[in-house]
Amino acid sequence: MPDLLLIGGATDTMIARMAEKFTIHKLSDGNYPAEKITHVCTNGHDGVKPEIMADLPSLKLISCYGVGYDAIDTTEAVRRGIVVTHTPNVLNAEVATTAVLLMLACYRELLRDDAHVRSGNWEVNGNAPLTRSADNQTVGILGLGRIGQAIADKLAPWNPTIVYHTRTKKDVAYKYYDDLKAMAADCDVLICITPGGPSTNKIVNADVLEALGPQGTLINVSRGSVVDEAALITALQTGKLGWAGLDVFEQEPHVPQALRDMPNTVLLPHVGSATIETRAAMGALTVDNLLQHLENGTVISPVPECADM
Ligand code: NDP
Repeated sequence: MPDLLLIGGATDTMIARMAEKFTIHKLSDGNYPAEKITHVCTNGHDGVKPEIMADLPSLKLISCYGVGYDAIDTTEAVRRGIVVTHTPNVLNAEVATTAVLLMLACYRELLRDDAHVRSGNWEVNGNAPLTRSADNQTVGILGLGRIGQAIADKLAPWNPTIVYHTRTKKDVAYKYYDDLKAMAADCDVLICITPGGPSTNKIVNADVLEALGPQGTLINVSRGSVVDEAALITALQTGKLGWAGLDVFEQEPHVPQALRDMPNTVLLPHVGSATIETRAAMGALTVDNLLQHLENGTVISPVPECADM
């Protein structure tokens, strides 16, 4: 059987299916036959470190359990003829739900009011202060791709005005901004859902956060690298930005104490797609790519850089 290197975790179902066709070697076990590895199964967080890719001369396919693949050097993969696959679409609805949940939790002060009940404060001190309505807001989507569009769709019951910023204008009815700061200035909420990587590194900077303003809410379900975290902390601490709902951070799983201490943040441990149902669908597609490649050399969902390979 061909040899597969497993980087990071995989579900029992994925491992059982892979084990039928591959000899599985786990990176975490420390030793693997580097020269014989033809397939890698990894995830969006761990990716494939350059030194590991360089160590695998027979590598043909990297199957990534996740849609974001910024932790894989696709330029080097393409140069070496290694196909990279990922799991687009099957997680759109779930990540959109996470973005909407974070937005609503910020607007309706879900965590503050939950604490008000749990602590007994309601009984002792009476009603909690009023919150803000999430209805009729102008929502700017940074990255109107598969998930960005799903977020726009899922927000419909709250009657938002959707606007967006991407590098290229899309064929949609929403207002397009070619300048992120100008969009932030016109928005109540800015939702980040671009890929990570160099082109989006810290594009949500101090200027953008200040433009979003004291009544503004930042939601980040993309990658921690997209937002300048130090600038975000300063903006929240000084009242230049109102609220932040974050699923992703610069140095996961480390989350700066300042963000954890603030009452105007809602923090999640990178669980955008993390439901049983969606992870099962992602796992199935991850393994389907591996098995199809083994069978006939083709794949189902290559990353765009590998589409013509
Ligand atoms: P798509 O490729 O469908 O969409 C990406 C969008 O981002 C496109 O509209 C693209 O438009 C835009 N974009 C890319 N680069 C830039 C840039 N430099 N500036 C502005 N806009 C940009 O991806 P998906 O919607 O499927 O996924 C998006 C990302 O969501 C993933 O790459 C991943 O990082 C993140 N994600 C996070 C999850 C979580 O658990 N929190 C789960 C799943 C995904 P254009 O090219 O025209 O700029």
